[in-house]
Amino acid sequence: MKRIFLSPPHLSGLEEAFLKEALDSGWIAPLGPQVEAFEREFAQAVGAKHALALSSGTAAIHLSLILAGVGPGDEVVVSTLTFAASAFPVLYLGARPVFVDSERTSWNMDPALLAEFLEGRAKRGRLPKAVVLVHLYGQSADVDPIRNLCQEYGVTLIEDAAEALGSTYKGQSPGTLGQAGIFSFNGNKIITTSGGGMLVSPEEGWIARARKLATQAREPVPWYEHQEVGYNYRLSNLLAAVGRAQLRSLEERVQARRAIFARYAQALSHLPGLAFQPEAPWGRHTRWLSVMLVDEEAFGLGPEAIRQALEAQGIEARPVWKPLHLQPAFQGAETVGGEVAEDLFRCGLCLPSGSSLTPEDQDRVIEAILSLAESPH
Ligand SMILES: *Cc1c(COP(=O)(O)O)cnc(C)c1O
Repeated sequence: MKRIFLSPPHLSGLEEAFLKEALDSGWIAPLGPQVEAFEREFAQAVGAKHALALSSGTAAIHLSLILAGVGPGDEVVVSTLTFAASAFPVLYLGARPVFVDSERTSWNMDPALLAEFLEGRAKRGRLPKAVVLVHLYGQSADVDPIRNLCQEYGVTLIEDAAEALGSTYKGQSPGTLGQAGIFSFNGNKIITTSGGGMLVSPEEGWIARARKLATQAREPVPWYEHQEVGYNYRLSNLLAAVGRAQLRSLEERVQARRAIFARYAQALSHLPGLAFQPEAPWGRHTRWLSVMLVDEEAFGLGPEAIRQALEAQGIEARPVWKPLHLQPAFQGAETVGGEVAEDLFRCGLCLPSGSSLTPEDQDRVIEAILSLAESPH
């Protein structure tokens, strides 16, 4: 039986032509015309002013934090319900993450909890340097109140839109609403370069400085001159060619993921004890992953038992991200709230959601869950 993966890479068929163009041009080096074209086309696709192609989304977060002036001992607020890469770069800089819980509408950072935290810190004269706001599973966070708070307190807003390429918040792209936004082209994301990322910003100076830091902080003189510490974080010209090909099918990819979610929800949400991630009223959800919540008592099985039963049939499902405030790697970090994220982790299960998932594959997933509901436990 063919294994069904959670979110495998999906080729568009255009990659070979773009790669051939890159190869024929002789640009096998990092940087080159494909990188510049990818940055330009990506910026246009999301409505960003400036974009910088990087080797990963994590690198983009790292550089954003440096640009925000984050250093040893500084605090950085991060959504707790996310992948660890949202917060690891805080530790690279010797800074301290403060984790903020989710609200129930979008599962993203709760603006009321952030307000409470910033108010308390302002009174003590110890404001965080930045907020890393995650748009989880492709659902935009409620950006306006969070952006207003960041402006009020003078805190840099960095959006982690790694999972949210193609989603909207009040008609705009998440990732383009703060001082910096990051995207990921890892193999499991909405579009992929096999590995890669993008940093976008409305401020040209930020992107110029990030570009310099990402190319070993080389000074613009003929010899190798370095006045500060640099990184080797640029995307290769070949991978940018793959990204350009992938970007052309972005809208189809999002439509396909949304259609898969709609099918799951239509076929399964009548079952007692099953519910699906809501779509917040402020924008379009990419449904990067289709996530359902399982009430163990009502359904008869918990999410882990369902995951194992699916696995036995060659279907890959995964728990919701384990909240970062529960991760040993972040032990000791301050946490604001946490119960909502813990509840979503306890009840959540991510179903196969790749845009290449065929209707037959979707039927297999649906039938497997239906049969679990029907079987006596
Ligand atoms: C994938 C992901 C990242 C990291 O992106 P990479 O390109 O894999 O480094 C960061 N944040 C979130 C929320 C992600 O899902």
